[in-house]
Amino acid sequence: MSRDGSRPGRGGRGSGDAVPCTPAPLTDAQGRTIAYLRLALTDRCNFRCGYCSPAEHEAPGHLLGRAEVVRLAGIFGALGVRRIRLTGGEPTLRSDLVALVRELHATPGISEVALTTNGHRLAELAGPLRAAGLESLNVSVDTLDPERLHLISGRSASLPEVLAGLDAAADAGFPHLKVNTVVLGGVNDDELARIVRHAWDRGASPRFIELMPFGGGVPVPTADVKRRLAEQGLRLVPDGKRGWGPAHYLREEGSDPPRHVGFIGAMTENFCEGCNRARVAADGGFQACLGGDVRTNLRDLLRAGATDAEVEAEVRRALGLKGARHRMDEAGGPLVLLPMMGIGG
Ligand code: SAM
Repeated sequence: MSRDGSRPGRGGRGSGDAVPCTPAPLTDAQGRTIAYLRLALTDRCNFRCGYCSPAEHEAPGHLLGRAEVVRLAGIFGALGVRRIRLTGGEPTLRSDLVALVRELHATPGISEVALTTNGHRLAELAGPLRAAGLESLNVSVDTLDPERLHLISGRSASLPEVLAGLDAAADAGFPHLKVNTVVLGGVNDDELARIVRHAWDRGASPRFIELMPFGGGVPVPTADVKRRLAEQGLRLVPDGKRGWGPAHYLREEGSDPPRHVGFIGAMTENFCEGCNRARVAADGGFQACLGGDVRTNLRDLLRAGATDAEVEAEVRRALGLKGARHRMDEAGGPLVLLPMMGIGG
């Protein structure tokens, strides 16, 4: 919505206006354009993975309601945000998820609605989510071994359901389907090539994420992940493919069509220079950076009756304080404001 409550134009002139009415795109203190919003729909999760670290759950009334999410999407869409990724917590625990995706898909300015999930409810939800307009789906699969998944998730997760969810996602025909794996030293680093092949066989693009310091676990640097993939028989060569985010990609040698593996080296390969994103946490906190200290609560603003222009001003103020890089690798301990489950990974 625009500040008077009407739908914004897409960059043209309003009827009779002498000047363009498009607001300036969102930029942060470093001049980076913000076109990508990650929005945590809940801080609850049915899995208990140690590295994600359990959040103090917000009572449901403190989470953003559906109308609030849609209003925020409209405000951000009018300011140049083109892509929204729904995350959490586990976003499929929200009973209004499919309806929300449908509304976000119809929001002016938003060209892509994406979702990150543990896959547990995908067998039933993949088809309805695709039909509602979801374009991009990331499924988290850290292991293909049921016992290891029990170990990683404190016995809360069940592998057959996750894999059935991934199969349903493959059948639903998402334009972008990815498998996200956090590499945990001594836990899953001996099965990385197997995970890659499992993803490729389902038309999904696998990506390996370096462990960030939100909970327990032994990080494996991206350079070592690449070495282990080679030891496990994968021949990967450089490739220029880039996505919306910080992943860089290698390609399987000789593959045609090309099969890629993505790497997100948040700790050893800092990519903050190209940051294009901001986050809204489950409690409505606008967080300029996943590992930074600039935070302001948009839910409270909305509930206090703020206009769209006031929300926009607060977002611009927070982005104006965003640092040049995250502070998760700071000497003396990482700066982490909330568990990953609350901010949304
Ligand atoms: N519940 C959903 C899921 O499992 O995908 C969405 C939320 S989860 C926080 C999003 C992503 O963040 C997952 O791929 C998860 O593996 C990743 N993640 C969580 N904690 C992490 C950490 N400490 N370091 C790196 N990635 C992490």
